[in-house]
Parts: sequence; C-alpha cells; structure tokens
Amino acid sequence: MDIHCLSLHQIKELLKKREISPVELVRQQLEIIHEKNKLLNAFIHINDSCIEQAKQSEQRYIRGEFRELEGVPIAIKDNICTIDQPTTCASKILKGYISPFDAHVIENLRNSGAILIGKTNMDEFAFGSSTENSAYGPALNPYDTTRVPGGSSGGSAVSVAANMAFGALGSDTGGSIRQPASFCGVVGLKPGYGRVSRYGLVAFGSSLDQIGPFARDVRDASIIMKIIAGYDERDSTSCNIPVADYEKELEKPLDKKNIRIGIPDEYFGEGLSKEIRDRITNIIDCLARDGFHVERISLPHTSYGIPTYYIIGTAEASTNLARFDGVKFGYRSKNSKTVFDLYTNSRGEGFGKEAKRRIILGTFVLSAGYYEAYYLKAQKVRSLIIRDFQQAFQSVNFIITPTTPETAFKIGEKAINPLAMYLSDVFTVNANLAGIPGINLPAGFSSDKLPFGMQILAPAFKEAELLSFAHYIEQNYTKE
Ligand code: GLN
Repeated sequence: MDIHCLSLHQIKELLKKREISPVELVRQQLEIIHEKNKLLNAFIHINDSCIEQAKQSEQRYIRGEFRELEGVPIAIKDNICTIDQPTTCASKILKGYISPFDAHVIENLRNSGAILIGKTNMDEFAFGSSTENSAYGPALNPYDTTRVPGGSSGGSAVSVAANMAFGALGSDTGGSIRQPASFCGVVGLKPGYGRVSRYGLVAFGSSLDQIGPFARDVRDASIIMKIIAGYDERDSTSCNIPVADYEKELEKPLDKKNIRIGIPDEYFGEGLSKEIRDRITNIIDCLARDGFHVERISLPHTSYGIPTYYIIGTAEASTNLARFDGVKFGYRSKNSKTVFDLYTNSRGEGFGKEAKRRIILGTFVLSAGYYEAYYLKAQKVRSLIIRDFQQAFQSVNFIITPTTPETAFKIGEKAINPLAMYLSDVFTVNANLAGIPGINLPAGFSSDKLPFGMQILAPAFKEAELLSFAHYIEQNYTKE
C-alpha cells in the first residue's frame, strides 16, 4: 500500500490501530520529501530531526495517550514562526533566522501531536501568485513541472498534492491559499478574519492575512481547522467566538431546501476559461436539481477589488516590512559606514525585486499628498465591497465562483509582467477585503490535464457551514 497517498484521516486510523508506527511513517515521508524535492522544490527546510519527535509519539501510542494528530507529518509555510526550524519567508533578508517563539497555530499543532516535517517554499514575504519570487528558486507544479504551482503558498500546496505531507498550513492575504490549491488540485481554506490567530505569522497585510489549511479533502481540512482555530489574546484581532468541531459537523445532514446559493454574474464574465466555466456551471446545475435553491446575484463592486487590494495590501506591507532594517534581526550588509547606509544597504541587498516594488508602491500610496487620493479612497471602496457581500448574504447562504480564471500558467509567463500576475487574483482578493471565509474545492481537470477548483464563500464565522457544504459537493459531485 502506498501509505503516503492516504488522506490525513486515513493515516490517523492506521496509526491508531498501530498498523504503522510514527517512526516508520516519518522516516518514509522524509525519504519521499528528499527525493521529490530535488525536482519540485516545495520545501526550503526539511526537518530531519523530527524523527526524535516521532519516537516520542510512538511511546504515546504504546501508552495509549495519543492525541488528535499524534505522529502525523504536516508541512508549514515558511512565514509561520517555529522555534526549532528557520523562518525565512523565502527571503534573503531572513536567511537562517530562527524565531524565539512559536506561532499560535504551531503551538496548537504541537499540542495535537503533529510532526512538523519542514518549512515550505513561497513567494518572498508572500508577495506573488506563482512562488517564482522565492529567494530559493521557484517551486514547480507536480502536474506539469513547466508550470507554476500558484502562490504565494505554492510549496504548501505542492507538499499536499505530491503526497509529501498529509496536510499543510499556508497564509492567504489575497488568495495565497485558494489559488495554489486550485492550481495543484487540493482543498485550501482561508478562514474568516479573526478566526485563526495571526500571532507568529510574519505580517504582510495585517487587516487581510489569515492562516489556513491545505488538505487532500474537506474532512482533512476540517480536522486541521479544528486544531488551529480559536481565540488568542496575543492577536488583538482574534475573535472570541466558539470553535465548532468542524469534523463532527460534516456528519449532520444538510437541510437542502433551506440552503440558498448565490451565483454572482461578475465572476463568470470575460477572461474566464470556457472549460472552468462549463464545469462549475455543471456542478451548479446538479445542485439545483438536487433541491438546493440557486439564484443569480450581483456583487457590483467586484471589479474594484484588484486595485483596492493592491493599494491596501502594499500600504500595510510597506509598514510591516519597515522592521527589517539590518539591525534587529536577519541579514546585515557589511562595510556600511553610517547607520543610514546600514539600513539602505541591508534592505537593498536583502529584499528581492517584488518586495521592493511593494514597499515603494505602499510608501507612495501612504505618502503626504497621495494618501487621500489612494489609501483613503481604497478604504472607502473596501467598505463598498464589504457591503456587497453583506447584502448578498441577506438572501443567500453561500456564494459559488471559480477560484481562478485559468489553470496553472507556465513558469516565466507572467514573471516579467506584474500587472498580469496581479490580475490572476481577481476572484480571490475580495474575500480578504471583506474578511469572509472562502474555500477552494477541486472541481475537475482541463483538457491538458491540469486541475482547477471552485471557490465557495460564506459569511463571517460560518466556517462550519462552509466546510459541511463543501463536503457535500465533494462527496456527491467532485470526488473521482
Ligand atoms: N497574489 C497576491 C499578492 O501577490 C496574494 C498573496 C497572498 O495572499 N499572500 O499579493
């Protein structure tokens, strides 16, 4: 049996029945990761010493004291702080940096017995949609290695798609979980803002960032979500709203007649690949025949999402990245005579091209004289986008859209054209601006055998309902 191809819940069962030992499992996974990583470059750091943890897990199984994810290998995006492995954000400026503390989600995973098998490749500081902006070279799409895996959490998506890990964490500021999940054919959930603590996530856009799971199926995503979600006083935007047992919720039957699904016209227009449109429309038709109520809706400010996101996102990024100055931590340029030189040389040498572009754009939109015209205006438009969703959710429970307008693009295809790259986020950024949860559910394959997904959006704090609905679609329509 190819154990590494099993889902997380299946591997949990095998471990529980003691049909496989955590030590065997971790050893095997490390071998697979080392082998596959030569080609796919999904991991920046492989945690070979986690075998020690696996031995402890083994003892726990022997004593019958095993926890929810005891001995299960999980991959972590390299912008989530871990005390025992480097956290570099795939940037030269943080090369070799080891955080003095664990992120909240990492504490939770450790307490659940998960084995943190390595840190995954990403666009530098999560700026990008292809993982090409990594200081450690691009990660590749396992379905076609001439193509990108998406980004910025490309390495995490690849780790799950290529069976290197049984689940992974990523972060999503404008689509960085859902878009690579779509390109790699896996489930990816961006929780609503405030649902998962950002403590220990290296900040990109603090009003947009959320950590979430990548998984082989919806059940696995629910299991990981249950572990990482919840209140944390160290994140001032963390919400104290009870966390459901997301996995258990999946078993409850859906009240189909009372579930209303909105299909926004704005997400099915020009620029969407015909194959993706046809397949998602087909799934929507099935849902209607099945007894769900389906209706067309409008989210009129959708097209303002990209400019609004790229103003607010870069403004927040430029502020957040001010801390990397060559003094407090990370890379320090040699031979600088003055403090000013030290700052500029360290930042000039340490940051990659896209990070510099974002810092310059963000500083510009916040600068005196331009603040009102750009940043303030973007905040006002953000309110309109929030209102669009609030109005829509008065009449529907979920919104279904494509996750991406096309399947994975070729490496290098958009790298020279930042605007084309930014436009690949057109269907994902608005959920971040509105703070609502969204999931990518694998929906099918194109004629050239590339996966793509559908996106389901739900109102804030409705992750349990969202996962249950996605699970229903997965079990009935999209699972091979
Ligand atoms: N691709 C988007 C960007 O480059 C989103 C990135 C993200 O969600 N971290 O900003």
